[in-house]
Amino acid sequence: MQYQNSLAFAKQLDAQDVLSHLRNQFHIPKDINGNEWLYFTGNSLGLQPKSTENYILQELKDWANLGVEGHFEAKRPWLNYHEFLTEKMAKIVGAKPIEVVVMNTLTTNLHLLMVSFYQPTKTKYKIVIESDAFPSDKYAVESQLKFHGFDAQEGLILWKPREGEDLLRMDDLEQIIENQGNEIAMLLIGGVNYYTGQFLDLKRIATIGHSKNCLVGIDLAHGVGNIQPNLHESGVDFAAWCTYKYLNSGPGSLAGIFVHEKHSKNKELPRFSGWWNHNKKTRFNMRITFDVIEGAEGWQLSNPPILSMAAILASLDLFEEVGMDALREKSEKLTGFFEFLIQQIETDKIKIITPSNPNERGCQISIQIKDANKSLHQQLLAKNVITDWREPNVIRCAPVPMYNSFEDVYRMVESLSSILSKGKEV
Ligand SMILES: *Cc1c(COP(=O)(O)O)cnc(C)c1O
Repeated sequence: MQYQNSLAFAKQLDAQDVLSHLRNQFHIPKDINGNEWLYFTGNSLGLQPKSTENYILQELKDWANLGVEGHFEAKRPWLNYHEFLTEKMAKIVGAKPIEVVVMNTLTTNLHLLMVSFYQPTKTKYKIVIESDAFPSDKYAVESQLKFHGFDAQEGLILWKPREGEDLLRMDDLEQIIENQGNEIAMLLIGGVNYYTGQFLDLKRIATIGHSKNCLVGIDLAHGVGNIQPNLHESGVDFAAWCTYKYLNSGPGSLAGIFVHEKHSKNKELPRFSGWWNHNKKTRFNMRITFDVIEGAEGWQLSNPPILSMAAILASLDLFEEVGMDALREKSEKLTGFFEFLIQQIETDKIKIITPSNPNERGCQISIQIKDANKSLHQQLLAKNVITDWREPNVIRCAPVPMYNSFEDVYRMVESLSSILSKGKEV
């Protein structure tokens, strides 16, 4: 697409945007004078759909009126409330419903999945992660290594960008597996890296890992609702994600898991259990032996918080209405426009570290700014621009196709450009 560097052009793109009406379905935060923020942190916490309130109110009302009977009599009965989410969530990640369930929070889920899929032996026990993995994932795998009696440092293999580069190369992962695959039990890789925004080829990662019998897990926290991971088709063994980033389900909301069909029906897999992964038909018959449910539901432990699930349902209904294809189409244009405008800034101080190929990124653009410090972030804030600062010198910006406009993007880059052209401050 041929972009132009003008507000008029941005407005023209908004006028042509078939998804522009969605912005009105979200609460856009405002400053004290009532001016809308330029919100570019949907990759940290998505904005609130206006519909969410009613979904939650419904459950509060049913609880007020029905008490415990709400488990069966609520408008959406609580007993199997998670089932209202499964199919819609499966569609978003490209999975079969039997492979997906919403439960717990992300790091908890990573651990529960590793109980099943990290089964080290004395000689095959190492774990591969990206060198710039999200800290929680790194801490989780380190603690798993220690839990199984291994040295966390020795057991962890980092897939790193080459000297002088920012992005990961698949060839290097291939080398790692080729050379050390016999010692590696599992790969846990961010499908979209939280720092660079790089979207990795999941199918290729699965193939590489499986070539030496390593199990492959994907953290989709930055992928879900952003790119189309086609989890089933990719062949990865398991995946997990949170729902408060691109899925707009509210702070600390519940998370999702994927267990590939080839494993999800295997009742022999080691796992932790509670009453919620026990056979639904006999769950309340308290004195019988454990009988695990088939599919991803077989990893649940507890009866889940309905209020959080109501917020997820509100969001998933919006995604269902719009469809990931349409969102991706807008996303590529919006992110492309953002990239184009950044490239127009006349300075040698900035470098986009996110891949330029639209197939290798979602909507996040990470900008490295020479000699910058956190004051840049503060100056952007003073102009109502909300971005995310990551040490040492990167701002992460996510133009989210659900609610960000082309005009948002234009105004954001205009603000950044004016701050940089003052020069002194950064
Ligand atoms: C956001 C994020 C997390 C957060 O974990 P919680 O358990 O939800 O607090 C973990 N990993 C990645 C890759 C993330 O992007």
